[in-house]
Parts: sequence; structure tokens; C-alpha cells
Amino acid sequence: MALPLPIPPCAKRDGLSSLSCERFEYASTMATTLLAPVKTEREILEHSMYEDDPNANTQLPSEVGSQPRWGPRHRGAQELAELYSPGKRIQEWVCVVVCCTLCFYAGVLMVRNMRADASLLLAAVAGVLTADFASGVVHWAADTWGAVDLPIIGKNFIRPFREHHIDPTSITRHDFIETNGDNFAITIPVLGRIVWQLTTYDESSIDKQFHWIAYWYLCCIFVAMTNQIHKWSHTYFGLPTWVVCLQEWHIVLPRRHHRIHHVAPHETYFCITTGWLNWPLEKLHFWSMLETIIEALTGCKPRADDMKWAQKRS
Ligand SMILES: [Zn+2]
Ligand SMILES: [Zn+2]
Repeated sequence: MALPLPIPPCAKRDGLSSLSCERFEYASTMATTLLAPVKTEREILEHSMYEDDPNANTQLPSEVGSQPRWGPRHRGAQELAELYSPGKRIQEWVCVVVCCTLCFYAGVLMVRNMRADASLLLAAVAGVLTADFASGVVHWAADTWGAVDLPIIGKNFIRPFREHHIDPTSITRHDFIETNGDNFAITIPVLGRIVWQLTTYDESSIDKQFHWIAYWYLCCIFVAMTNQIHKWSHTYFGLPTWVVCLQEWHIVLPRRHHRIHHVAPHETYFCITTGWLNWPLEKLHFWSMLETIIEALTGCKPRADDMKWAQKRS
């Protein structure tokens, strides 16, 4: 006796044509892909350090032997922390002082020349989005490529990124200068240009370019604040209420949102200013496509140095 065949998912039934059924399947696949979480709760628990446990008691049995997989007792994290030099500290101090001076001076000049209208708001939002994207590009580049033993940039600029993955809470023990020195440095040339424009241009030229100036100014403020915002996203205790509100409203990077980046092997959610661009960039496979192209062109493996430090044992 022939058994009844199961109804194939795209069979004509209930008046649905195969074409509309195909469309329905395509739409439902799209929806599933878009709605799928970037990292599941289980992946977050098993492949990232449990930062909201103040006593670091949460060590899963899957951890390798008695060696800590993350945290301040990790051998690689200790070695990297020791590479922070007095010369680097001086560079950070100089950058913080110069950036704050320029930022304050530019701010006073901006207020004096302020032209408030709706397009100013658009310029401000575009400035914040640019800062978020820039934070993603710099973070992705430093996490994915290069090595700590490269001359000059290795010890001074790549080292903190490696340390951060194996001891994410180390950032919460860094003071204002160590946290913000490098980000403040990036904004100095742009802030310098803004001050120069607002002090040397005539009234009508400032009028014409004010929205561009406002765009770059807000972009600089958010770029400068990025690592402070990032530090807050790792701080689970004692944050001021206004910071928690900014995180809850997703005006700055929220804590739960940033946990997704800290799932090993740290290959997504690189934007750390507001994090607004993380989801769309992930769904567009932006970072993985860039990595495929670069690997094909250069033969370099993404995150090879990051992996080397993560596996360091005493
Ligand atoms: Zn990272
Ligand atoms: Zn982080």
C-alpha cells in the first residue's frame, strides 16, 4: 500500500500559488536571519568573561585546567599590562591637555557663532554616527590586524586592545589619562582646524560652513569620549545614575550590548561609541567581508596575534 506523501512546504494549497509561496519562504528566511540574535545567551556565558560578578567566582568547568581563561591573573594580561611605559604616559598627558584646551576654545567660538536650525540637528546626528563608525573601524583594525611586537605602534597602540580582550575589566582600573589619552590624540588635528577656521574666517564664510564645522565638532567630542563610554560599558558597579540612564536609552554604548563584542573570538560589534551601527553592519556582514578581502590579498589571518595572547600560559 502506498503511503501518503507528506505535503511539501511549497505545494499549492489553500489557493496559494507556488510563486507567492516562494516569496513567503524568502520573506520568512529574511525575517529569521534579521531577527536571529547575533550571539545567544549561552555563547555570551561560555565565551566571555563574567564581568558583573564582583568576586570573579563564575568560572565554568569547561575552563582549561586551573589556568584562568581571562581576568587579571591571566599570564598574557599581566605581560601586556607591564608594557605600559612612562613615555606612553607622558604622550597621553600631553594629548589630554592639548585636546581639552582646543575643545574648550572651539566650544566658546562655536557658541558665539551659533546658527540654530533643523539642519544643525541633522549635522549633529551625522557627527555622532561618523564617530560611531570611526570607533568601529579603528577598533576592528587594531583587534584584527598587526601585532604587539610591531615597532612603535605595537606596544603603544595595539597593546591595550590585546589586554582588553583577555582582561576586559582592566579598563575599569585605568585612570582618566590612560583611558582617554589615545582618543583625545586623534581629535587634535580636527579641533585645531576648527579653531583656525573660527578665528580666521570672515563672518559670511563661517555662516556658509557652520553646519560642517558643527558636524566635525560633535564628531570630535564623541570620538574623544569613546573610550570613557567604553569604560562605562564595563563598569557594573557604582556608575552615576545619569550614565546608567544614557546607557538604558542607548544614547551611549549599553553594557549588555557591548557583551556581544566580548564573546571570543571577538569578531563583531566593534562600534563602541553609541553602538548604533553594530547591528546593521553585522547583518550586512561588513567586517567579515572586509576580512575575507584583506586575507585574500595579503594572506594574513585575522586575529592571529589576538589568539596568540589569549592562549598565553605561564
Ligand atoms: Zn575588541
Ligand atoms: Zn570592551
